[in-house]
Amino acid sequence: MEPVTIDIAPGLTAIDTFYAGRERYTAAYLLAAEEPAIVETGPTTSAGPVVAGLERLGIGPSDLAHIIVTHIHLDHAGGVGTLAERFPAATVWVHERGGPHLADPTRLIASATRIYGPAQMSALFGPVEPVPAGRLHVVRDGDRIGLGDRSLDVLATPGHASHQIGLVDSATGAVFTGDALGIHVPAVPALRPATPPPDFDVDLAIDSIQRIRSRASAGMVLFSHFGPVTEVDRICDLAIRRIRGWAEVVRTTLERTDDLDEVVSALEEEARRDIETGAEAALDLDRLEVLSSVRINALGLMRYWRKRAEREAEGDGAGAQPDS
Ligand SMILES: [Zn+2]
Repeated sequence: MEPVTIDIAPGLTAIDTFYAGRERYTAAYLLAAEEPAIVETGPTTSAGPVVAGLERLGIGPSDLAHIIVTHIHLDHAGGVGTLAERFPAATVWVHERGGPHLADPTRLIASATRIYGPAQMSALFGPVEPVPAGRLHVVRDGDRIGLGDRSLDVLATPGHASHQIGLVDSATGAVFTGDALGIHVPAVPALRPATPPPDFDVDLAIDSIQRIRSRASAGMVLFSHFGPVTEVDRICDLAIRRIRGWAEVVRTTLERTDDLDEVVSALEEEARRDIETGAEAALDLDRLEVLSSVRINALGLMRYWRKRAEREAEGDGAGAQPDS
């Protein structure tokens, strides 16, 4: 397959990873800095298109200096071990809470297999190779990753995952958002929240969107799924509205039932309402399911509300003082 690369700004190019065999679903981004870097790798099944894309952009096996992932979910970082092998000079960067799982992906694989099942796991992601611990560099909020003539500021953006980071590019001001704002692919006129278990947290997710907004004054956010959006305020407002909307649907459904299928069908109705008006003809929601299925989102939001209820119950218990 011919590689597909999309120029976004000077020195910033998206490479289509052809995730799940689909075009423009998941991007890896090349920053053509003095020390060339990619943000996201896609899964191992995407290594071919990513390597071919890099080659077309003039980056050979010994040229790539940095591989950075916004979080360790397999659609973003499953291929990082394989790419580290293909690009032996590259340092791998990840949030400190994600680092151990790239060095030893056993638990990462187990957790993804619980969510996706073994058949989907191998079809979508392929094997997950470890990253040699000596090549891993962990980061936290406020760190700066130097790329020679350019740098990336690290922004902790928990919510979708507790270890997710955003990255602010010094050259363009664009902010890499991972899945913090959800899923926004060119083929479907909708923004779908990404609220998977086990970490998803509504308040953290909304705070993270506001942090991204405040750092995106240059007017561009970069979705891993897929590509740039320049109407930053509009997309941030919409992302917050969608998360609140989906969380509320799950909360009210849980008042009458904790049956997963019922929660899923309530969310499916909400998902249909989310389609931007006037675009009903283009409606093809199935295309979003591969990236952010309603079922997985339902599981994440159900877990969020359950954990929250437990926290509140504990809080009440601790705060209850006998009258003196
Ligand atoms: Zn993702």
